[in-house]
Amino acid sequence: MTTSGKLIIFSAPSGAGKTTIVRHLLEKFPELEFSISATTRQSRGEEVNGKDYYFISKEEFLHLIAKKQFVEFEEVYSGTFYGTLRTEIERIWQDGKTVIFDIDVEGGLHLKRKYDGQALAIFVQPPSLKVLIERLKGRGTDSEEKLKERFIKAEKELNYAPQFDIILKNYDLETACKEAEVLVSNFLKS
Ligand code: 5GP
Repeated sequence: MTTSGKLIIFSAPSGAGKTTIVRHLLEKFPELEFSISATTRQSRGEEVNGKDYYFISKEEFLHLIAKKQFVEFEEVYSGTFYGTLRTEIERIWQDGKTVIFDIDVEGGLHLKRKYDGQALAIFVQPPSLKVLIERLKGRGTDSEEKLKERFIKAEKELNYAPQFDIILKNYDLETACKEAEVLVSNFLKS
């Protein structure tokens, strides 16, 4: 049986704060459920397999591509794949919930186009590229080389903001979370 429901997409350059905002919304709204992406990157810090991501090998990822299991996927960083599994969205809709995504900018726009009319696509905007770079460095989880790749990608991604339904400024996290709550609440009622 195929079901259909709503989707809320949060996209932003890495370090803009979207993961924190999405976690906040998940605590606030029981109607939401997080779409757990598959990735070939290593888990970092306290990340848990099957909660933050499905951490899988590149072979497994390529096998899932061949079996057309992804709604979208991307080589977000060179050699590192991320993707949204079809089964993930179906599972959440079958539970009668709205899917919420923490996804990169191109993936977010891809989903917005694919689920036109069912999706709310929000771009989380950091105060500046400089602040973004400071935040990424402060995380201390990436090598110098990986950080550089993230900065280059972030600079490009900032230009995509106008293609989203909403640009949510994250200059102050508490304010951004409150604004996100209003956006989600209105969308869930719509
Ligand atoms: P990170 O390695 O920092 O967890 O994620 C890197 C980027 O990949 C982030 O912008 C994150 O939102 C994005 N991402 C996570 N899951 C997916 C996915 O399923 N598809 C795409 N296209 N990007 C994803």
